[in-house]
Amino acid sequence: MSTWVVHKFGGSSVADAECLRRVAAIVTSGHAQGAPQGVVLSACRGVTDALYEVLGLAERQDPAFESRLGEIRERHIGIAEDVLKPGSAAAYVAEIKSDCRDILGILQTVKLTRSAARNIRDLVAGFGELWSTRLFTALLRDHHAIPGGVEWLDARKVLVVEWGPLGPAVQWEESGSRLAAELKPDFTGVAVITGFIASDTRGLQTTLGRNGSDFSGSIFGALLQAREIQIWTDVDGVLSADPRLVPDAQVIDSLSYTEAMELAYFGAKVLHPQTMAPAVERDIPIWIRNTFAPEKPGTLICARPESKLQVKGITSIGAIALVNLEGAGMIGVPGTAYRLFGALREENISVILISQGSSEHSICCAIPQAQADEAERVVRRAFDSELRQGQIQSVTVDRGLSIVAVVGDGMAGVHGVAAKVFSALADATVNIRAIAQGASERNISVVIDDRSTAKALRAVHSGFYLSPHTISLGVIGPGTVGSVFLDQLAGQVERLKRDFKLDLRLRGLMTSSRMVLADGGIDLRDWRKSLEKDSTPADIAQFTSFVHADFLPHTIIADCTANAGIATHYAEWLGAGVHVVTPNKKANSGRLSDYRAMQDARRHAGSHYLYEATVGAGLPVIQTLRDLCATGDEIVSIEGIFSGTLAYLFNVYNGSVPFSTIVREAKAKGYTEPDPRDDLSGMDVARKLIILGREMGLELELEDVDVESLVPPSLAKCDVEEFLLRLPEFDAQIQERYRRANAEGQVLRYVGRLNAQGKATVGCLALDARHPFANIALTDNIVRFATRRYCDNPLIVQGPGAGPEVTAGGVFADLLRLCAYLGAKL
Ligand code: ADP
Ligand code: ASP
Ligand code: MG
Repeated sequence: MSTWVVHKFGGSSVADAECLRRVAAIVTSGHAQGAPQGVVLSACRGVTDALYEVLGLAERQDPAFESRLGEIRERHIGIAEDVLKPGSAAAYVAEIKSDCRDILGILQTVKLTRSAARNIRDLVAGFGELWSTRLFTALLRDHHAIPGGVEWLDARKVLVVEWGPLGPAVQWEESGSRLAAELKPDFTGVAVITGFIASDTRGLQTTLGRNGSDFSGSIFGALLQAREIQIWTDVDGVLSADPRLVPDAQVIDSLSYTEAMELAYFGAKVLHPQTMAPAVERDIPIWIRNTFAPEKPGTLICARPESKLQVKGITSIGAIALVNLEGAGMIGVPGTAYRLFGALREENISVILISQGSSEHSICCAIPQAQADEAERVVRRAFDSELRQGQIQSVTVDRGLSIVAVVGDGMAGVHGVAAKVFSALADATVNIRAIAQGASERNISVVIDDRSTAKALRAVHSGFYLSPHTISLGVIGPGTVGSVFLDQLAGQVERLKRDFKLDLRLRGLMTSSRMVLADGGIDLRDWRKSLEKDSTPADIAQFTSFVHADFLPHTIIADCTANAGIATHYAEWLGAGVHVVTPNKKANSGRLSDYRAMQDARRHAGSHYLYEATVGAGLPVIQTLRDLCATGDEIVSIEGIFSGTLAYLFNVYNGSVPFSTIVREAKAKGYTEPDPRDDLSGMDVARKLIILGREMGLELELEDVDVESLVPPSLAKCDVEEFLLRLPEFDAQIQERYRRANAEGQVLRYVGRLNAQGKATVGCLALDARHPFANIALTDNIVRFATRRYCDNPLIVQGPGAGPEVTAGGVFADLLRLCAYLGAKL
C-alpha cells in the first residue's frame, strides 16, 4: 500500500505571500509523518482569469495587454521577494521575466492575427500554474528542511490527455510510465506539481479546462496510488448549498462519489465534476478542507459514507434555456427524441436535463443559454416538415432560466422527498417550468426562472437542512418590558433548542434610534453590548427586510413598544407572512377600519398575530375569551379592573391620606406612567375594553366608550409638575365620594364594563365591600366573564396585571404559543 498523500491547493489558497506560507505550514506538518506528498497547486488567485483577459485584449488589438501582463508579473515578483531568500528570489525573477517576454512575443502575433488559436490560449493560460509552483518549490527549499527533498514536477511532462466530446481523457498508461521516469520509486519528499496543465497526444500543451486543478489533484492521486487526496480551498468543506446564495449553508460531513459528482455537475463550484472519476476506480478517499482553518475536519468523499441525511446538497446552474417540442403527432412515434438530441449534438450543444411527459405529447430539454439561438435553429430545421404539416405544433426556446438540483443517495426509496421539495418551492411561490428525476433517485432537478434562484435554493435548503422551527426573530423596543423579555428569552433559548429543537435567532433589535442586524443572530446574553457596539441608525424598512429573511422558515416580530407608529406596520408585516407578538395596544384599539384591514391581511397571508399582554399583562384574559367564543359560549358581559395603576390607587386609598399624595407616591414607585394622567384619564382601560369587544366581534370605536376621567378638566392640559402640584385642590371631592360609599359599607373601584350589546363604560364605582372587585391586592387585575355557560357563577381571572416581569412573561408565552402553531412540539 502506497503511503502517498496528494494535496491540491486552489487559487484562493495561494493568493499571496501569507497564503503561501500557510500552505507550506500545512504541507510540512503533514510531512512530519514521513509519507511522500504530492502538492498540486492552482495559479495564484485570479491569475488564470487575468491571462485569458490579456489574450482577449490582444485579440481586440487593445494595447493594454502589455501593461496587464506587466501587472501579473509584478504581482508574482512581489510575492517572491517577500517569501524567498534573495538568491532564489533573483533566480525566480529572472525566470518570470523571461517567460513574460516569450508571452509578449506570442501576444504580438495574436494582435496581428486578431485571434488566438486554442493551443496558443492553452499555452498562455497555463503559465499561472508554472509560476505558482516554482514559487512554492523555492519557498519550501528556502525555509523548510524536508526529508527526502523537494521536487518540482511539470505536469506537461507527465500527464497526457486526449480531448474528446466528454472533455479530457487521461492516457493512463502513458502518463504512468512518464511519471515513473520523473520520480524515483523510493522518493520520500514533497513533489510540487503544476495543476490545470497537461500535454496532448501530439505533445502540445493543453489544459484540463477551467477549474481543472481539482482534476489534476485526483489524477495525480491515482497515478501515485495515493492513500488519500486532500483538496484545500477557502471554505470548511462541501457545503449544503453555495454559501454566497444561502447564508445558512452547512458543512456536509461525508458524501459518496456519486453525490459529489452530481453536486459538482449541477454547479457546486467547490469541485470540478471530473475530479471523482480517477478516485472512484481506485477507491481513494477525497477530503475537502479549508486552508484557512486546517483544524476543521472538512468533508469526506468516499464510496460508502456514513451519513443518514437524505439530502446532501442543493445546487444551481444559471443561464439555462429550455427547448420545448410539442405536438400530438409525436405520440407513439419512435425516434423523435433521437432526432432532437441528434440535432443538438450536431451543433455540439450539450443537454443538461431532459424531461418528457409520459403521453409523449411534449419533450423538453435544458441547454446552456449561450447556445439557445443555435439550438432553436437546428431543432426547427430538423423538424421542418413536421412543423409545416402540423404534426409538431411548436418549437419554443425559453431563456433566462436556471436549474436547481437536490442531491442525495438517501432519497432513493424514501417517499415524501419530492413532496418536500415541491412544497418548499410552492410556499416560496417559485414557479416550476420542468422537472427531472433520474431513475437512480439520487437527484431531483427543477427548471425555474433565473430570478427566483436564490429564493428557491433558500426555501428548499431550509426545508431539508434547518430545524423546521428555525425562527428569525426581530425585537423592537428593548425598554421596560422589552429588556425583561430579552433577558427572559436569554435564559431559555438553549433549553428550547436542546429539548424542542426550537431555534430562536434574534436577528434584529431596534430601539427608537438605533438598531442591530446580525445574520447569525445577536448573542442574547450580550444584547445590550451589541446595541452599544454594533448598532446603526434605526430604519424600520431595512429592519423588516433583514429580519424577514427568506432563507429561514419563519419570521416573528415582537413589538415591545407602546408606539402607535410601529403599530401601523403590522398590516404590512402580517400581509407579507411575518408573524407578530406584542403587548402594544395601539394596533388593536385604533380605528376599526385599520383594525379590519390588518386582520384581513393576516387572514389572507395565513400569519399569526398574538397580543395576550395587551390586557391584564401576563394573565390569560384574551386566550380565555377566545376559547369561550371559539367553543360556542355566548358572552353576556365582561367586567373588571383592568388597570394595575388604578387598582393600586383605590386599594391603598382609605380616606386618611389624601388621594393626591397616593398618586405622587405611586408615581415615585414607578406604578404609574411618567404622566399619571395617562392612567387617571381612563383611556388605557377604554382601549382594553375595545380590544376585548373586538375579540367578541363587536364593532366598537374608542369614542363609543363612555369614560369617566379622574383628571380634573382644568388640569388636563398643564405640564406634569403643575398637575401634581394642583391635584390636592381636588382631594376634597374624592374624599367626599369615599366617605359616602364607606357609610354604606362600600368601597371605590375603577371598573371597566362591556356587554354583548356593545355598551362600554369605564369609571369609578362604589361597590359592596364583599364584591370580588373589592378584595384584590396591590396592582391586581380582575376580569369577570358572565356567559351563557358561566351564568350563576361567573368565570374570574385574577392576579397581578402590571409590571415588566409579568408583561414580558405574557409576550414570551405568546411567542412560544406562536412557535407551537408553526409546528414546534413544545
Ligand atoms: P479554489 O480556488 O480553492 O479552487 P473555488 O473558488 O474554485 O476555490 O471554489 C470554492 C468556492 O466555491 C467557495 O468559496 C464557495 O464560495 C463556492 N461554492 C459554491 N457552491 C459550494 C458548495 N456547495 N460548497 C462549498 N463551496 C461552494
Ligand atoms: N487556474 C485554473 C483556473 O482558474 C485551474 C484551477 O484553478 O483549478 O481555471
Ligand atoms: Mg476550484
